Amino acid sequence: MSDYLVKALAYDGSIRAYAVRTTETVSEAQRRHATWRTASAALGRAMTAGVMMGAMLKGDEKLTIKIDGGGPLGPILVDANAKGAVRGYVSNPHVDFEANEHGKLDVRRAVGTDGLLVVVKDVGLRDFFSGQVPLVSGELGEDFTYYFATSEQTPSSVGVGVLVNPDDSILAAGGFILQIMPRTEDAIITKLEERLKTIAPISSLIEQGLNPEQILDELFGQENVKIIETMPVKFQCNCSKQRFSDAIVGLGKHEIRAMIEEDGQAEAHCHFCNQKYLFSKEELEQLEQEAK
Ligand SMILES: [Zn+2]
Repeated sequence: MSDYLVKALAYDGSIRAYAVRTTETVSEAQRRHATWRTASAALGRAMTAGVMMGAMLKGDEKLTIKIDGGGPLGPILVDANAKGAVRGYVSNPHVDFEANEHGKLDVRRAVGTDGLLVVVKDVGLRDFFSGQVPLVSGELGEDFTYYFATSEQTPSSVGVGVLVNPDDSILAAGGFILQIMPRTEDAIITKLEERLKTIAPISSLIEQGLNPEQILDELFGQENVKIIETMPVKFQCNCSKQRFSDAIVGLGKHEIRAMIEEDGQAEAHCHFCNQKYLFSKEELEQLEQEAK
């Protein structure tokens, strides 16, 4: 089953909702980076939130999320666009711990709680919106909830979950973001708050095999949800050998000559997707000629 995201309105437009299944997307990240279980959960939660936040953008807009809590994972980086593409990595993929006191992967310990969640939105024409909040939990769902409330003044609830098999593969991943619109009646807010207290954790919902529409039905009741858009999502990186060639040309003749003489070749590495590109001596000499 491929991953997809739904955008919806609930209670006659009082609440904007996003729900997504990211099992394949997080699996792709896990395979590319060979992340261990706790690292997979942290990266997968961040990517799941990221792809939903990307879906809030328009056209060619995109965003980057950086989470650095000072924990053993090091910084987590996630990029997403408005078209369902997301990519991401953790600085130290080989991090795993015993389960925490709730029997869950200890994402807080891996991420750390002494640091920031930073979101930078590239909204075109060299215009950037940037917001940051201190990490309040390290479990990431609550941190994104805090980000929306504080940095975007949008009362929200963010649930993200990743289940990992004993062999490190991803069993299931997904999440939701609910946002309260400015004129929402108090009665609806109270109802939603009550529901969020009683509903099973998002990881249980996805483990039960609920699709994004069914997750929203669980939250609001089927009769109260109106799906307005469905969008496929996937792990996708926009790197290419050509992009790295351009970057090497940008280093200038002097630097390229040094590479040729020191190593006789060069290897470029994309952090986001872990793809490596090898440049032979002949290719470097070609780029040297193009360079200034
Ligand atoms: Zn890449």
